[in-house]
Amino acid sequence: MTRTVSTPAGAAMPVLGLGTWRLGEAANRRTAEVAAVRSAIGMGYRLIDTAEMYGDGGSEEVVGEAIAQAIRAGEVQRDELFIVSKVLPQNASRKGTAQACARSLARLGLDRIDLYLLHWQGPHPLRETCAALQALVAQGDIGQWGVSNFDIDDMAELNALGEGKGCAANQVYYSLGERGPEFGLLPWLRDHGQPLMAYSPIDRGALASDARLEALAARRGVTVAQLALGRLLAESGVVAIPKAVRERHLRENLAAAALVLTPEEIVEIDRLYPPPRRKTPLAMI
Ligand code: NDP
Repeated sequence: MTRTVSTPAGAAMPVLGLGTWRLGEAANRRTAEVAAVRSAIGMGYRLIDTAEMYGDGGSEEVVGEAIAQAIRAGEVQRDELFIVSKVLPQNASRKGTAQACARSLARLGLDRIDLYLLHWQGPHPLRETCAALQALVAQGDIGQWGVSNFDIDDMAELNALGEGKGCAANQVYYSLGERGPEFGLLPWLRDHGQPLMAYSPIDRGALASDARLEALAARRGVTVAQLALGRLLAESGVVAIPKAVRERHLRENLAAAALVLTPEEIVEIDRLYPPPRRKTPLAMI
């Protein structure tokens, strides 16, 4: 049974999804990448995160092809999947958002993106972007919309707009090495019922070989990457989207969603990676 969190509109979002940045960048890796995403779906991944930015649309094509193959093979049904993509800030005008979404849908081979995010705040007024996103929801092109790389003041600004109240989630850099969002932002999102989607949750792979976490991971019989993911997922309202292509990584990360750390293990991890005691600016990759 997939563990989920609820968005404000009541949609269930799996707490562990697949990141796909760096996919779709090279033609000679395409077949292997499609196979990896398909294998992820086969082993039970239901949330897949992509963006028009990744590989200039190449990542969306890889994801789309993997989904098509998995559906054709009867391994999954469309409605079981929760597909996330993102509009680039420079495209996020009233008209540009709709056009970008149409291009993403075509590359994904889908008629709906379940969650469509503004990748970060850019030149277009938020009010305009929100209106465009809401129109896409009304048309059924997207299920819900949200934002990414928004700090607490950005969330407050968004929320102050009438149109901003429909925001479903905020995707930010959150890992053991970057726990800043726990101060201020995560509580704010919890108060508003919006999941925090943690990107780069194993610090782009670096945390997986962290010697400081090795002893604890060994004692628990898990890998360091699983421990790092498990600690993030111990926070309510958090979804993690580690990227992986290797089969072992894919399996390890998915299994981390079922890991329930003991209070003692949490204390031990927090001693090595202390939670923030004051507000720090939101980090961004
Ligand atoms: P991650 O922290 O997910 O790390 C990915 C790297 O870790 C890959 O090299 C992967 O290897 C490796 N890895 C994955 N699992 C394991 C494991 N169990 N053990 C050891 N190594 C492992 O970094 P990302 O920056 O990719 O972040 C995840 C996703 O978040 C992105 O792919 C993207 O979808 C999203 N993102 C969103 C951003 C935004 O602005 N909204 C910004 C950055 C990321 P391998 O692939 O070889 O298996």
